[in-house]
Amino acid sequence: MTYPDTFEGFAVFNPSPETWSTVKKYEFTPKPFEDHDVDIKIQTCSICGSDVHSATNGWNKTNAYYPLVPGHEIIGKVVRLGPKVTDFKLGDRVGVGAQAQACLKCKICKSNNEIYCPHLVHTFGGVYQNQDGTETHSQGGYSNYARINDYFVFHIPEELSNEEAAPMLCAGITTFSPLVRNIPKELPEGQSKPRVGIVGLGGLGMMGIQWAHALGCETFVFSRTSRKKADAIKLGADQFIATAEDPDWVKKVEFDLDLVVCTANSAEGFDLNTYLRSLKIGGKWVNVGLPETPFTVSPRSFMANACFMGASHLGSHVEMIRMFKLAVEKGVRAWVEKIPISSDGVKEGLERCRYNKCRYRVALTDFDKAFA
Ligand code: NDP
Repeated sequence: MTYPDTFEGFAVFNPSPETWSTVKKYEFTPKPFEDHDVDIKIQTCSICGSDVHSATNGWNKTNAYYPLVPGHEIIGKVVRLGPKVTDFKLGDRVGVGAQAQACLKCKICKSNNEIYCPHLVHTFGGVYQNQDGTETHSQGGYSNYARINDYFVFHIPEELSNEEAAPMLCAGITTFSPLVRNIPKELPEGQSKPRVGIVGLGGLGMMGIQWAHALGCETFVFSRTSRKKADAIKLGADQFIATAEDPDWVKKVEFDLDLVVCTANSAEGFDLNTYLRSLKIGGKWVNVGLPETPFTVSPRSFMANACFMGASHLGSHVEMIRMFKLAVEKGVRAWVEKIPISSDGVKEGLERCRYNKCRYRVALTDFDKAFA
């Protein structure tokens, strides 16, 4: 069988330490086509840190399934529309992020918080409860096609190339949402700009620095070494702090920041108690990175500056539209390295991401050749 009955993707078959990045072509049956669905012929998909956690089953999910096709920063062309889809036409260039479905009826969805809907389905690694009573595993964008509910499909502005836009669909929105929700609206006398810290310069950090700068913040970047300093400045950082190179680094920013968005994807050597000291009285720490082991933090650290700590998941439909508008207005672009999709290309991309070797996202390209 072929499209539209089956799709084909590059799947991880075994998350073991020896085989997690070895992918093979895999034919799978997508969810049944429903009235609000859009089928997309994929042209580009970039590689997120979450693809790596999922390929290795690093979060130890008991309901993880393999073969698993990762990928949730997807761009392509619309090739099929359900009868109730009104926002798109055949041939439109569109994108999809990490969320593929929500109930869109509950009070959470109705308050533009559908990313927290208890019925959400992630673009890959989730389970669709189909209208016909069956279940389908969701599979991601290292594939020839994606089938997604129209609410989670977005027009891509013509100013952005596929590769410049793809990482925005997850890395971009995941950093944009906590910034626009938490940047203080009022500042104390004598302070002209909100002061925002971004921890970690990987895919999310690369987007977060640009958003913070574009949103008019004084932007502080915390990276472990000075290796990425020049890039951080080009991305819009005002201050760069190499945390592993100066044991007293926190003294440079103590009680200074209104908000920190942390994108670190590992807790190894991560001293949260020290990072929290960078916050002002009542400042906020928002974690978006999802390390595989917990951080350790003492309640005394919160007492020192009455700071708050929380987390954030992706971003909403409304925020996605606002984010793309800002990208066009302020010239924000994802920095990517392109790799043609193939078994070797996916392996290379996943490993570059896992071992901190890409600047700052790998975008898989040339889907037409791989799936000819
Ligand atoms: P990357 O691998 O591209 O970047 C992660 C960065 O974190 C690294 O470049 C590094 O920056 C920093 N880092 C890693 N380990 C440590 C450590 N022990 N201490 C301090 N910094 C560290 O990953 P992504 O940016 O793609 O993703 C980051 C995390 O965000 C992942 O865990 C991912 O699963 C999660 N995520 C969460 C989402 C959400 O909705 N909350 C959505 C998407 C992703 P440096 O070299 O500068 O120190």
